[in-house]
Amino acid sequence: MEQRSIDKLLPRGITPLQAEIEETLGLAAGTLTREKLADWQLQRINQTVAHCLENSPFYHEKIGFIKDHLPIRSLTEFTNVPLTTQVELAQNALQLLCCSQSEIARVVTLNTSGTISRSKRLFFTAAEMQQTVRYFQTGMSTLLAPGWQCLILFPHQRPHSIGSLLKTAVTNLGAIPVPLGMFENPMPVNQLIQEKQIETLVGAPKQIYTLMKNWTQLRLGHCPVRTILLSSDYAAPALRQAIERGWDCQVLDHYGMTECGYGAGIECSAKDGFHLREADFYYEVVDPSGQPAAAGDWGEVVITTLRRDGMPLIRCRTGDVSRFVDEPCACGTVLRRLDGIPERVDSLELSLSIPRLDQLLFQFPCVNGYDAYQEEGRFGLELYLDESSSARTLNEVRDSLAQSIQTTDPIVITVKSGFPHSAFSLAKKRVQFKSAEIR
Ligand SMILES: [Zn+2]
Repeated sequence: MEQRSIDKLLPRGITPLQAEIEETLGLAAGTLTREKLADWQLQRINQTVAHCLENSPFYHEKIGFIKDHLPIRSLTEFTNVPLTTQVELAQNALQLLCCSQSEIARVVTLNTSGTISRSKRLFFTAAEMQQTVRYFQTGMSTLLAPGWQCLILFPHQRPHSIGSLLKTAVTNLGAIPVPLGMFENPMPVNQLIQEKQIETLVGAPKQIYTLMKNWTQLRLGHCPVRTILLSSDYAAPALRQAIERGWDCQVLDHYGMTECGYGAGIECSAKDGFHLREADFYYEVVDPSGQPAAAGDWGEVVITTLRRDGMPLIRCRTGDVSRFVDEPCACGTVLRRLDGIPERVDSLELSLSIPRLDQLLFQFPCVNGYDAYQEEGRFGLELYLDESSSARTLNEVRDSLAQSIQTTDPIVITVKSGFPHSAFSLAKKRVQFKSAEIR
């Protein structure tokens, strides 16, 4: 059997995202500075604001008053422009459009939760989807070599779907896409990985964790998968480490967000935060009052689109909680980094959140998956365990939960075998509320 040196699987060096951004800005390789990027971002922000005031009925009404104060003279001054909320996004899709619907190539409809009563729709032109392909290509170049086979576990049938854009990006890199999409049974997927000797996987964290657990349970032995990109949901460090250990492979995390045309940021081989698409988006982190968070503080991620004509967004709250990492990345890039996205704004008040549960539970090798819910003053946990796990390991899980979760409400654990149905869904994992009064 080939003995892998993990370090050799990912090329070291500066994130390839920097070269892509230099190309977009028309700069020679290696000449990007924060100052050049900030100048370019400010210029693009002014273009975007002017475009929105002229063409978007929503922004014309919301921020029309700034017309007399243009151009915006600094990125600090830009923080005076009102934020766009997720509720506004959900309620004003067509009014946010700056072009005719005939120019739109892709509409993404997302079911929203919490206080947002209707689905959110995001519109993209074909040119904007091409920006995503180019970014996917940049990101995947870290994970793939020409000729490698890349199994894509995202929907790919519709044009401009996430799997279809990935397929194009992988092909452009000289690698071989194997588009599969969603699955409900891990066993045939693992057989496919073994038969085809797949080198790279792209999928949601819970999908890939399920495949790895099933592979181990089937005793399939050496896994051909060398590199994995996790996207579309939070990947707890414990879950990522379990995948890396279980399959002896390298895992990079991707910060996907539909508002950013599926892609907002990607780790480099240093695996220490998301490098951002700073030529395509301007990123901010704000405190609960909407003011810029102090350097290094956690807050809500806010984005402004810099290269969009169809449905540009100005200072749009994303609901994701993160912070800028102050220290330079080991890869040596000048690009900024966002830390992991450990929470959503709407889950901060919960004593039991999915990211915290993921980190806690996936440290136990016996855990196949779980579902969590809250009802009538108690928390429920449906815990899917390996059939071989003992009463002792269940007690360890219980003790760990009791120590780590700060709640006076009882936690009711139901033990099940196999995998939760939610492991096969692309929907972000959430604590389910079983009673309307609790909400
Ligand atoms: Zn880096």
